[in-house]
Amino acid sequence: MSISIENKTRSYSKEEEKTFQKYLKKAMDLLISKDYVDDRIRTSGAEVSVDVRFVGTEGIRKLNAEHRGKDAVTDVLSFPVLDMTDGNLSSDLMPYDFSYSEKGKKILPIGDIVICPERARKQASEYGHSMDREMLFLAVHSLLHLLGFDHENGRDEELMFSKQEEIMVGIGLPRDPSAPERKMTSGKEEKTASSDEHPVGEMLPHCGYCALVGRPNVGKSTLLNTISGMKLAIVSHKPQTTRNNIQAIYNRDDAQVIFVDTPGIHKPQSKLSEFMVDSSFRAAKGADVVVLMADGRFSKPANVEIKAAEMAKKLKKPIILAVNKADAVTKESLLPLIANYSKIADFEAIVPISALKDDGVDELMNVIISYLPSQPRYFPIEEVTDQSEREISAELIREQILHYTNEEIPHGTAVEIDAFEEELKEDAVDSYDRSLIKIHASIICERDSHKSILLGKNGQMIKRIGTAARQNIEKMCDCKVFLDLHVKVRKDWKNRQVFLDEFGYTKKDD
Ligand code: GDP
Ligand code: MG
Repeated sequence: MSISIENKTRSYSKEEEKTFQKYLKKAMDLLISKDYVDDRIRTSGAEVSVDVRFVGTEGIRKLNAEHRGKDAVTDVLSFPVLDMTDGNLSSDLMPYDFSYSEKGKKILPIGDIVICPERARKQASEYGHSMDREMLFLAVHSLLHLLGFDHENGRDEELMFSKQEEIMVGIGLPRDPSAPERKMTSGKEEKTASSDEHPVGEMLPHCGYCALVGRPNVGKSTLLNTISGMKLAIVSHKPQTTRNNIQAIYNRDDAQVIFVDTPGIHKPQSKLSEFMVDSSFRAAKGADVVVLMADGRFSKPANVEIKAAEMAKKLKKPIILAVNKADAVTKESLLPLIANYSKIADFEAIVPISALKDDGVDELMNVIISYLPSQPRYFPIEEVTDQSEREISAELIREQILHYTNEEIPHGTAVEIDAFEEELKEDAVDSYDRSLIKIHASIICERDSHKSILLGKNGQMIKRIGTAARQNIEKMCDCKVFLDLHVKVRKDWKNRQVFLDEFGYTKKDD
């Protein structure tokens, strides 16, 4: 069960919020474990999540007016995500019902709850019970709404109220003011994962997420490849986090750094680039530290870089400036750059590097690691990837398209794997003992002119893309690969949600 709380009002203290969260978690556990919800939810393997927002009277009045056409202050509003009646789903859960946390956990968001604490406080005093009780009453009431219980029609009213009371009793906050209020055990008995794995006294490694942001072409991918040492050995593509953010997991004895390579920060122009901007921001949000990579040959920060610095500041993340391509410029010429960039952020450190020549990279890593918390590794050291070879193959093809076509085909392509057929060796002992993989893939582009660029003169371009991609896929799969590429034009696919869904660019919220 996960709950995220956003407090937009000062009328509810942090302390109260903490108590609220504890009780609400208990209430949700009860709801899920008892017969209130559909088995399909319980067996989905996902963590049920709700977003709770506290707003002021004006805020809730607006929401009430917008969503229910009632221009009045109210105590609570529910915004369900799933279509449910009395705890039962009206249809099977679909892949798009789920989202994934930064750490890859499967999550089932069931909706949003908006509460007005100011209003609740008034009601609490009217009813003569505690604020905690009133707030939880409203939250549980709202949770039941999210699960499809309703009181607007007479029949269900009783059912809803009886369930609600059951839960309030279950969590130790019965509505009857004369009943004693049980104290929570403040979660002391909860064992953390780390207490099992790491006995007290043992040093924990520095582990965490690092968002690598920067304009296209500054050398982010090059850095990741350099860090990974062997391409693909530890570069792991994680569709869960943000599908397009290729992650590299860097392990050393005392540290684990999970890199989120962002597709660059662009001005939103189409749905796709909106998604990409968004994914950069989401990457930064979930990160422990942000690295802004600049190109040493530039002297002034671009708008998007200023934005990135602002974003890091807003999210209160430490930000490090990596000035790449130091090999291509003189030391002196870096000085004005450093002076100009220093104006846009309070960088924790400014490290000139050459990702290509592996210069200064160790130093950069040390700085990054110094900002990561001591905690158990997120991923086992031996983990290579948790994305299917099929998906990575598509990414590898796309990588070569971007590589060979430069800016001519600006993010206007998607790759679809039409077939991925494995042939096993005659004496194969397991399913990885393959002699050949046949891959048929389509490159989807927007315009006929793009198609001709992708094909190139006499098909030279597509051949080059295919050869380079095939070599990388062979490295990954450790067997021979036959790669058949086709170019298809689908006009305006970037703006059509169905296509975006089809190619996996659908937004996933944390
Ligand atoms: P990304 O778009 O930020 O991922 O950039 P890439 O990693 O794809 O690199 C863009 C271009 O810059 C490629 O041609 C790289 O070879 C080149 N590049 C990357 N790092 C360096 C570097 O340290 N020095 C030089 N001279 N070129 C680099
Ligand atoms: Mg790149």
